[in-house]
Parts: sequence; C-alpha cells; structure tokens
Amino acid sequence: DKLTVSVRDHQYDVYVGSNTYELFSTEYAELLRTTDKIGIIADAHVAELHLPLLQKALAHSGREVSVKIVPGGEKCKMPEVYVECQSFLLTEGFTRNSLLIAFGGGACGDLTGFVAATFMRGIRFIQCPTTVLAHDSAVGGKTAINMPEGKNMVGSFHQPSAVLFDTDVFNTLPASEMRSGLAELVKHAFISDPLWTERLLEKEQFSTPSIEWLEQELLQGIKVKAEIVGEDEFENSTRKYLNFGHTFGHAVEAASGFGSLSHGECVMIGMGYAFLLSEKYGDIPEGFTNRYLHFANNNGYTFGPVFSYSFEELLSYMQKDKKASFGKMNFVLLQKIGEPFVKEISSEECQAAFEEFKAKLK
Ligand code: NAD
Ligand code: ZN
Repeated sequence: DKLTVSVRDHQYDVYVGSNTYELFSTEYAELLRTTDKIGIIADAHVAELHLPLLQKALAHSGREVSVKIVPGGEKCKMPEVYVECQSFLLTEGFTRNSLLIAFGGGACGDLTGFVAATFMRGIRFIQCPTTVLAHDSAVGGKTAINMPEGKNMVGSFHQPSAVLFDTDVFNTLPASEMRSGLAELVKHAFISDPLWTERLLEKEQFSTPSIEWLEQELLQGIKVKAEIVGEDEFENSTRKYLNFGHTFGHAVEAASGFGSLSHGECVMIGMGYAFLLSEKYGDIPEGFTNRYLHFANNNGYTFGPVFSYSFEELLSYMQKDKKASFGKMNFVLLQKIGEPFVKEISSEECQAAFEEFKAKLK
C-alpha cells in the first residue's frame, strides 16, 4: 500500500508492506538508472539480520553498491560516525549524482538523512526503515545527529526521494522496540481522530499485533504525520502537535540517561502526564487518564521511572526542551481527542500535576 507525501514542490511516495524492496526493480528502476553509485548506510544489528534482503533487491540495478556499517541504534548519531560516513563517500568516489539508502531504525535514518543533506551540499536518499517507530521518523524530512551537549542538536531538513517500509524485517524487532513504535502510533491517533483512538484503546493484544493489522495502522499514522508536515514543514505551527507527550517524556528519557527505556516507552509516560494536564486545562473528561494508564499497563508499558526522579530534576530537563522559550514550558495538550493545542504551563502547575500523576500511578 502506498501514500504520497507533498512538501512544498517536492513529492514522494511511502510504501508499507511485504516485499517492498522489489520496487527497486520497478517503480524506482529509473531513479537507480540516473544515479552513478548507490551507498547503503546500515545499522549494524539490522545489517547482520537483514542486509542480504536489501542487497538482493539492488543487485538488478546494474549500479555499484557500497555498504557502510554504522553502530547499531542511537550510537550511530555520534559526530564521529557522521564524519566517517562522509570520508567513506569521498574515498569511494561518490558524486552529486549518487544515492544513499538508510537501512535501520530512526537513528540510522536521521544520520543518513543528514549525511545526504550535507554531502556535496545535498544528494538524494531513500529511507528503508526497519522499526515501527520509524513510521514517524522516516517521513517529514527532519534529519540530525547528536552532540555531547544534546540530542538532535545539529541537523537539517532534507526530504527523502522515497520511503520503502518493508514489514518483513519486523520479525526480529525486540518487544520493547515494538512498544516504542506503537506509542508514537497511538500518539498520531490521539492528536487526530477520536474514532481511531477508540479502536486502538479497545484493541486486544495491542503490543503484539499481526503484521496485516500493523500495516494498515502504520499507513494511517504516516498519513497523519504527512498531512501535518505538508502543512507546516518547518514547525511554525501544527507540526508542534506531534510533540504530544514529548515534553515530560523527553525529561524522563534524559533523566534516565537515554537507554533503560526506549523513546516511545518514555513518550507513553509523557502522554499520561499530558492527559492529566488535558483534564485540567482542556475538555478531556475526568477519568480518561485512568483509562489510558490502564490501557498502557495492560500492554506492557511501565511507569516506574516517574518515581525514580525528583520533580526538580525533571523540571530542569523540561525547561531545556527545544519547545520551551524564555524558560517557559509549552505543553501540547488536548482540548478533546483529535484537537491538540499548545498551552504554557508554569512550574508550579507542573509540580501540582506531577504529584497528582504519582498518586494515580500508585
Ligand atoms: P533505533 O534506530 O535506535 O533502533 C532501535 C534498536 O533496534 C537499535 O538497537 C537497532 O539496532 C534495532 N533494530 C532496528 N531495526 C531492527 C530490526 N528490524 N530487527 C532487530 N533490531 C532492529 O530506534 P528508533 O526507535 O527506530 O528511532 C529512534 C531515533 O529516531 C532517535 O534517534 C530519534 O531522535 C529519532 N526520531 C527522529 C524523528 C524525525 O522526525 N526525524 C522522529 C522521531 C524519532
Ligand atoms: Zn517521538
């Protein structure tokens, strides 16, 4: 199944399903013909498990394919790895007519996108995402690497030429990474659609879904993301809504040193907190937060980390959030399900909600 993303004058297709890489011999044969060299930047874990699948699909292109393996997961976004990738392309003789392919989760996609955005001032790239979370990260053109001073601090906007989401690689995805991606999926439902939200909250075995179900849901999630990005590529207005659950979620993620919990699992925590605020400052009915927490607990998400850090510690991270301006915290909240808005919340209000949140979790 496919979906078209339009950002300004640039359009590209996102395919989700089994055998998606076969499109390199059909839909994208022409693109490969107009490229002199192809470079795959592959996450080490993913390469070990699935690289032959992609290489086989590219073998018909008649183009030379070079592979650069980068550390698995978030480590590939270190500046050293970025520089290594650029040197690799230069020594391998890549030019402005070359093509890069990102093969891995959101981390590898962010790195590869930024390498592509900056190599010779920008070359084309294709996203071949391998995690459920990447339905979020592979669409929209945000690319970045991390600095010792902070995550995603150096980056650019660079839209891919295509996104080929092959669900055959999901069979090796760890359960925590599945939960991580599904958290962003429910986020897309919460900010856009009450009926879809109902369906997800009532879904049995939500965190161990069938591939057929997942494909349809991911397409829906990508549609929400694509519409928002099409409206507001540079995050001046509605793109902010995609940060629902992220202010508090990021704080928990940062306090835990990025590692013990996946990004989406932290966002799941953050959305609980944001629902509580939405009960207070929006029209979300009282009791909805409890229902949400019940759903999350039933599906293997944990809220333990909320008790591991002091409010002051979490607050310091929330105030450093990229959405904060002049030290004030701007939260994305929901007026109703499907109706996000941005509200400035004082640190006192945050603290009161934090105590209530802990009481609910006990
Ligand atoms: P990830 O890329 O770190 O991958 C998670 C782990 O799963 C890694 O250890 C990886 O090696 C492994 N893995 C990936 N695919 C696998 C597979 N098929 N089988 C087995 N193991 C596999 O994590 P992620 O959650 O995909 O992405 C998170 C990153 O995405 C963060 O760096 C975040 O900043 C970024 N992100 C970017 C955007 C954006 O708009 N650009 C949006 C959201 C998140
Ligand atoms: Zn996120």
